[in-house]
Amino acid sequence: MKLIFLGPPGAGKGTLAVRAVNVIGVPHISTGNIFRAAIAEQSELGRSVKAILDAGKLVDDETTIALVRERLARDDAQKGYILDGFPRTIPQAEALAGFSAVDKVINFDLSDTLVLERLGGRRTCRKCGANFHILFGKPKQNGICDSCGGELYIRDDDREEAIAKRLEVYREQTAPLIDYYRKKGLLVNVDAGPSPDAVLENFKTSLDIAG
Ligand SMILES: [Zn+2]
Repeated sequence: MKLIFLGPPGAGKGTLAVRAVNVIGVPHISTGNIFRAAIAEQSELGRSVKAILDAGKLVDDETTIALVRERLARDDAQKGYILDGFPRTIPQAEALAGFSAVDKVINFDLSDTLVLERLGGRRTCRKCGANFHILFGKPKQNGICDSCGGELYIRDDDREEAIAKRLEVYREQTAPLIDYYRKKGLLVNVDAGPSPDAVLENFKTSLDIAG
């Protein structure tokens, strides 16, 4: 089964992908792990990715597409895969259609309010980096890390303005993929609002997967 996972930041796509691969037995392929693997292998593409990332830039479409294409050509991806973080744009989706036929596109749907609540509630320890959440994983003592007693703070990424910015980029670049795949008859909507267990169940039901 060849699947693409779509969804806004905070929808838990990465976590769900890790759990879904155990259910359907195909590799989880994210651009993050492709980039890390290419860098570790020191291939020609890997070296250019490293240079781009070291310069603090975003990996361009052409390089990303070439790496995904190479990854999907490997043996373990022949019976299927879960693509997470790719495609991110319509040009990437069109390129993908040229070298792999996707079976379904799962859209993990989450309202902006819930995105803000999930991402904005995260608190990080300054000392040890542990994460807490003001609603879903409160520290025992307000503002203090359970593991080391360090001070908890809000990372710049988790500030409301930063989250709003990420949502804006998502709406502009990635959300059009929802329409694109709906028109092709490939889209499956799964509500990402409930707990990860319930979302995984809904995912299985909507794809008619047992177990
Ligand atoms: Zn700590």
